[in-house]
Amino acid sequence: MGMQKKQILKTKKAIARKRSQGTQTFQAPKGMHDIYEPDIALFDDLQDVVRDLARAYGYQHIEIPVLEDKDLFVRSVGLDTDMVEKEMYVLKTRGRDILALRPEGTAGVARAYIQNGFMYMPQPVKLWYWGPMFRYENPQAGRYRQHIQAGFEFLGADNPIADAETMQLAVRIGESFGLKNVCVYLNSIGCSACRVSYRKALKAYYRTKSRKLCSDCKRRLHTNALRLLDCKNETCMMFRKDAPETLGYLCKDCSAHFKKVLEFLDEMKINYFLDPYLVRGLDYYNQTVFELKAIPSQQQPVDGHEQQKEPLSFGGGGRYDYLMKMLGGPDTTAVGFALGIDRMVEIAKQEQVKAKKQNPRVYVIQMGDIARTKALQMLDMLRAQGIFAGFDLCRDSIKAQFRSADRLGVRYALIIGQKEVVDHEVLIRDMETGIQESIPEEKMIEALKERLRLARKDKINHTFYGVPS
Ligand SMILES: [Zn+2]
Ligand SMILES: [Zn+2]
Repeated sequence: MGMQKKQILKTKKAIARKRSQGTQTFQAPKGMHDIYEPDIALFDDLQDVVRDLARAYGYQHIEIPVLEDKDLFVRSVGLDTDMVEKEMYVLKTRGRDILALRPEGTAGVARAYIQNGFMYMPQPVKLWYWGPMFRYENPQAGRYRQHIQAGFEFLGADNPIADAETMQLAVRIGESFGLKNVCVYLNSIGCSACRVSYRKALKAYYRTKSRKLCSDCKRRLHTNALRLLDCKNETCMMFRKDAPETLGYLCKDCSAHFKKVLEFLDEMKINYFLDPYLVRGLDYYNQTVFELKAIPSQQQPVDGHEQQKEPLSFGGGGRYDYLMKMLGGPDTTAVGFALGIDRMVEIAKQEQVKAKKQNPRVYVIQMGDIARTKALQMLDMLRAQGIFAGFDLCRDSIKAQFRSADRLGVRYALIIGQKEVVDHEVLIRDMETGIQESIPEEKMIEALKERLRLARKDKINHTFYGVPS
């Protein structure tokens, strides 16, 4: 980490010098960033978790374009949302099409489902994706204009168990990645029928406060009252705590559906909280809506009065039974969610989650030109056997090669010099004990595998008996 900071500082100085000399230099666009070591290792781990669990839950992978027709988002996400109104990157092509960089993934997947005839396949269809999303908003910590989302869409399923299964998958991804105290905040916002009476009650309540509402909310009162609950303005948020709750207005069907969802969650021992004002302000949601949160470790009650830290949200989703129809497709029930990957990595770093980095266990050291050629062949053999080896064929200094091997913490070094090439041998050096042994070339793999197996056993025994390392 320290090295990285130094490296960045040095570069900044160098760039400033270049600029003062009139040389043009380039920066990534505001709110966009490069991801590399050490952070990228956590992104890679998370991608592995997502891919493995997606497969285990029966999801197929889908890749959709980064650009879509702008109207796809206007129609599905809704015109009166910040996402569409203020945060979309819109561009006109030479062919005069109006396209938008996708701000989210569900609309594109729904478009793909209709366009590619997924409805004629056996239902339900489960699709997952991973990729960059774009939102033109003010960059803050952990919020980027280009950020990665992983999404899961369970299409053609109306049973409440689909809602519960979806939430379980989301929780398991968070836990498998290493996040602590993962929980679900959920609510039901009902169907188009019961939402009418709820909206009426909500409007009636907020109308009495309309003079004190922020200008956005004053407008929302007429355009889409549900979004009043999403406002981040302090005064508006204060009014929220006495606002009518959606659950009091659910019709019989919606009420039964939600009850079932909660029963399933209890059954699966998912940690959840009811949040009566969670509405997730996108047009396409109905019934179950949820958010995924991780409660920071320090907040775990120890003596009853420690600092309260806000739970960190890292994703959300819900049911969207009307979306396909809104996009001109067939009636298709659906439920899904998306995870903010950059956010999850940010939380993991705060919680000191370590990347499951795989370091090489062997290092190949060569001395001289003939040995270099031999090393090239040997490395190929090791890779074919699935043995991960470190090397630096460009280097001449043996000392430097040993230093690299030390830094990587490998247990064994394979040393090849002129003599070894001529005798068809290789030296195996135990880096811990310093003991070296000459092995015939054709026995190298076998000898190495045996040693690695023993080394692993040794390590397990040590940790098992608690011998300090
Ligand atoms: Zn209803
Ligand atoms: Zn407001």
